[in-house]
Amino acid sequence: MSANMLKQERVAFIDKRLQELYPNPPVPLDHSDPYTLLVAVLLSAQCTDERVNLVTPALFALADNPFDMAKESVETIREIIKPCGLSPQKSKAIRGLSEILINEHGGEVPQDFESLERLPGVGHKTASVVMAQSFGVPSFPVDTHIHRLAQRWGLTRGRNVSETERDLKRVFKKSRWNDLHLQIIFYGREFCSARGCDGRVCEICTTCYPTRKHPKRVNKP
Ligand code: SF4
Repeated sequence: MSANMLKQERVAFIDKRLQELYPNPPVPLDHSDPYTLLVAVLLSAQCTDERVNLVTPALFALADNPFDMAKESVETIREIIKPCGLSPQKSKAIRGLSEILINEHGGEVPQDFESLERLPGVGHKTASVVMAQSFGVPSFPVDTHIHRLAQRWGLTRGRNVSETERDLKRVFKKSRWNDLHLQIIFYGREFCSARGCDGRVCEICTTCYPTRKHPKRVNKP
């Protein structure tokens, strides 16, 4: 049996393998511009992308820009987005951020982290997704799934998503951040669920850690 890979070797292997498996990773959330992406990402908190994609056609038929959205009541928005969960908070946030975009940004989604993270309902991860997928700015949005895989692959010992993001940005080339974030998500969905694996089953772990004998402990974010 060959030895476990060194960290640098794991990084190179994972980078190459994910690129082979998912060469052009599509953006999972349906949208037509930065505003509709921002709203879709906000809706995806604690909800699947599939469900968000079922809900957004009706929402965007009603309003696909901040000016139209600000004319709608929170209750109307809430009724439509109910299947996504957390609808009281999310509907207020969508209405609130639409007003801020109109009043402070000329109706445009700002292209900087600070302004984005000041919007209601928008945290660092949501801002990172918008910066990466709408504006092409290298970002590494880390959610609980990426946090889990990065630990199982020995890329970080981060105790939370911020530490994991810092470590992933250190080990991977900046030009790969935006695609890698999606590629790790796709790999996780296909092979590595939150439960049901002890870190010794599929290709990446068995290649990186051929001698692994015990389940890899994962720090909860
Ligand atoms: S072996 Fe398990 S933990 Fe490792 S990547 Fe595969 S499914 Fe995930």
